[in-house]
Amino acid sequence: MLDNVKQVILVLSGKGGVGKSTVSTQLALTLKERGLKVGLLDIDLCGPSVPYLLNLEDQNIHQGPDGWVPVYLDSEQRLGVMSIGFLLNSRNDAVVWRGPKKTSMIKQFLEDVSWQDLDFLVIDTPPGTSDEHITVMENLRQVPHCSAIIVTTPQEVAIEDVRKEITFCRKTNIPIMGIIENMSGYVCPTCTECTNIFSSGGGKSLADLTKIQFLGSLPIDPRVGKLAGKGIAAVKELPDSATSNVFNNLASQL
Ligand code: ADP
Repeated sequence: MLDNVKQVILVLSGKGGVGKSTVSTQLALTLKERGLKVGLLDIDLCGPSVPYLLNLEDQNIHQGPDGWVPVYLDSEQRLGVMSIGFLLNSRNDAVVWRGPKKTSMIKQFLEDVSWQDLDFLVIDTPPGTSDEHITVMENLRQVPHCSAIIVTTPQEVAIEDVRKEITFCRKTNIPIMGIIENMSGYVCPTCTECTNIFSSGGGKSLADLTKIQFLGSLPIDPRVGKLAGKGIAAVKELPDSATSNVFNNLASQL
């Protein structure tokens, strides 16, 4: 039930492992820290990592009178979470389903979760442009404000894959809010200096080339890696970091 949702943000990436779930969870946590009501929906059926990233792995989904009740991170219920991971017995379990079953599960996730009034619903999607994405797009047509954020890494290959995401959004009429480049340089844990270990600037050049807004570069920051599994916002724990700057700027634009 998306009737109570003011704005939907889809987080997309061409490849897995580029930090899409990290961006989705940190964006949701940043918005929650700003006092907004947020939902985080993890439909990455083959690699649902949101329960782990938010330290909610031992939680289960309950059926309420109006549908599935999200798992809340906080007692004020400002961040509600729904993930296929809550339906699996363990993190190592795999979802081995054919297309139609996947599609119907995603439809259920979009239609049958009883979100309270939400300012934002952040959706962590699977990598690439699969059947699951088409199902999401079809179901989001009714939502008045829906946009996409694309996550990439500086390497060329990931960027080539991102072009396909851009084409997909354009074909399905989902406005692209911008591109975030993740793993852009490495922040030294002792002196916090950032070193470019791969080529740099790929996300920015792609954004310029495709006339899409560049939303910033997130370095590989071991401190951010450590926040994974704790459900803590970088903007709260590492307020002066490059990571916090990117998420604060992003949240201010929404
Ligand atoms: P995806 O959702 O694209 O598969 P994840 O967000 O799960 O990728 O990230 C993959 C791994 O990389 C996770 O262990 C995550 O903690 C780590 N990671 C992602 N981005 C960063 C970053 N900027 N700094 C440090 N670790 C990161």
